[in-house]
Amino acid sequence: MTNVFIISAPSGSGKSTLVNEIRQMVRNLSFSISYTTRKPRGSEQDGREYFFISREEFESMICKDEFLEYARVFETDYYGTAQRFLKKAKEEGKDLLLDIDVQGAEQIKSKLPDAVSIFILPPNRSELEQRLRGRSQDSETVIQRRLHEAGREIVNYEKYDYILVNDRLDESVKALEAILLSERLKRQGRTDAGLSATAEKYRLENVRQRLQPILQSFGKTAAGVK
Ligand code: ADP
Ligand code: 5GP
Repeated sequence: MTNVFIISAPSGSGKSTLVNEIRQMVRNLSFSISYTTRKPRGSEQDGREYFFISREEFESMICKDEFLEYARVFETDYYGTAQRFLKKAKEEGKDLLLDIDVQGAEQIKSKLPDAVSIFILPPNRSELEQRLRGRSQDSETVIQRRLHEAGREIVNYEKYDYILVNDRLDESVKALEAILLSERLKRQGRTDAGLSATAEKYRLENVRQRLQPILQSFGKTAAGVK
């Protein structure tokens, strides 16, 4: 059985960094390389971070029903997951990791309700701004748009099964590994007490209080916090 793991985060939270680490640590995990109409950034290569295609090519793939999900992100570009990655993961008996936005996560959850979703958050808005600047890949206009978009995206945290605040990278990597492995074991009817205990700390219902100051730094309030 193929387990599908969805990871979403406001841009700059450290999702790609975490995903790169976890791909080296967890066996039998395949990664879907998305298609996008945005231009490559920095050292990105076609077929490695993304398949960079034109809008015409993307729309042709939509018409041919080649996407498991797709969305317009930042109102500018299309991003989509090709169906063939899920098919291939199933054939190879591997789990599948998807790095997609909130809209894509919703589409996957409605098609594959057993998918496990994880939302990554930065410790606060100013740290997110520093990370976006530190990455030195985006123009000032793009950084401002991503910060604005982050404020809109984070309120969707309640739609996810697990919430991971990416403060210390080493802790976040361990947490993500525990979530993936404990969910994998659970679906095999097995359990590992240590892994489950770590993963449980990041379940939505167990992190609500911790999220309040983060949401406040973006000018938002946390729903469901007493
Ligand atoms: P995303 O994929 O979410 O857009 P990146 O993985 O590109 O974000 O990370 C954005 C920047 O933040 C990168 O320069 C990365 O090295 C840095 N970064 C990632 N995680 C952490 C962390 N836990 N602490 C400090 N910096 C981090
Ligand atoms: P970036 O341009 O920073 O690489 O990604 C921007 C956003 O697009 C991120 O939130 C990322 O998760 C999302 N994204 C990347 N690939 C896909 C995809 O295939 N589908 C959807 N819906 N979103 C994606």
